[in-house]
Amino acid sequence: MVRRSGRTGPAEAMWQASRLDYAAMTPLRDDGRTIHASGRPDRGQEAGHGLDPQTVRAEFLALDQTVHGHPLVYLDNAATALKPRCVIEAVTRMYARDCANVHRGVHMLSQRATDAYEQARESVGSFINAESAAEVVFVRGTTEAINLVAQAWAIEHIGPGDQILITGLEHHANIVPWQMVCKQVGAELVAAPVDDTGAVPLAEIQARISKRTRLVAIAHVSNVLGTVLPVRAIADLAHASGALVLVDGAQAVPHMAVDVRALGCDFYTFSGHKLYGPTGIGVLWARRDILASMSLYQGGGGMIQSVTLDRTLYRDEPYRFEAGTPHIAGAVGLRAAIEYVGTIGFEAISAHERDLLAYATARLGEVAGLRLIGTAGDKTGVLSFTIESVHPHDIGTVVDTRGVAIRTGHHCAQPLMERFAVPAMARASLALYNTRSDIDALIDALLVVEEMFG
Ligand code: PMP
Repeated sequence: MVRRSGRTGPAEAMWQASRLDYAAMTPLRDDGRTIHASGRPDRGQEAGHGLDPQTVRAEFLALDQTVHGHPLVYLDNAATALKPRCVIEAVTRMYARDCANVHRGVHMLSQRATDAYEQARESVGSFINAESAAEVVFVRGTTEAINLVAQAWAIEHIGPGDQILITGLEHHANIVPWQMVCKQVGAELVAAPVDDTGAVPLAEIQARISKRTRLVAIAHVSNVLGTVLPVRAIADLAHASGALVLVDGAQAVPHMAVDVRALGCDFYTFSGHKLYGPTGIGVLWARRDILASMSLYQGGGGMIQSVTLDRTLYRDEPYRFEAGTPHIAGAVGLRAAIEYVGTIGFEAISAHERDLLAYATARLGEVAGLRLIGTAGDKTGVLSFTIESVHPHDIGTVVDTRGVAIRTGHHCAQPLMERFAVPAMARASLALYNTRSDIDALIDALLVVEEMFG
């Protein structure tokens, strides 16, 4: 039995709001879109109204709590970002008011759910500057998006003796599916090496692209080092050799304006939950002609035009890649997240995060024995480090006792750990709601680590 009488704080307030007070929620327009204070919906990359940390922080209910008696300092944003009120409300509203399945019903709730789901697709399309919303396939996340390309495109277009080129800084989600493809079709996986700063020199990529290369699959931003890869230049090299380019954008979309057409890639993938949206929803974008040339991924309802016991006719893209009931509330929540970052704007977000990164980089230098890993010229707010003679897990555990949430481990990038000859790293990763006081709290907590283990 759920006991609610003893609850206090923001979670209880949210619970009450979700049960009782829809009128108090962020208003919706007739078309179901959220109206923000700015009155401006959509496109995250539009110049915004600047970033006032205190106003921003008030929107993130989870920040309003203590952990082990200390105010929560959340620096695990590369793993998943906290959710603003409008995202929580959008998801709540979907289940509370518009709860129906999409694409099949003629009744009002189903029509509202369908509209909301399709408007979310439009929002995503314009967020990444896709030519059309039909190029946007909803999936569970980056991992599923990459696996979809692996199984519905790569195994058809890559053969024995061909090569897939990745880099040494990839997340396992952008390594393992390609190893599986290579095994299935007899192709070879090649990786361009990472230099001591955590960059992947363009020359190392160029040296590995040949007529055998069918696909170049790269992170836009490294989840461990924050390195930003020169996607446009890499795409130009790949295309000159006839290869396609897949970009793992999981760590890019929360921090910078992404324009898939300007990047010149063929596939772009990301997860909603790192962009302040819900878990379980993500995006595969691909050029329409490529989507049209792909084979099927999963079969079932929602992706068919007609079925007899002998044969099935399929719908056009993107629907033929979305078998089964989709994560409707997730898509709607993702749209709210996109609209939220749109009210601030990436210019303000990245200026804020750049300032914090510089501040944090300088302050980490105060901790004895700390080795910062990842110092590439172009990087986002990710600070991975080790401290001499202290296991990263101990670092994470001790700073947690001070209310500071960081991540420790191999960060799903074991080849990168090997490259830097460490079994694991500690990682603090920044988001738009972090402040210099968060960095100060991290440093204070690391000084406790130093005292305990030094
Ligand atoms: N690629 C990168 C660069 C990531 O950081 C992550 C998540 N840590 C993923 C892929 C996988 O994302 P998801 O677990 O949301 O599918």
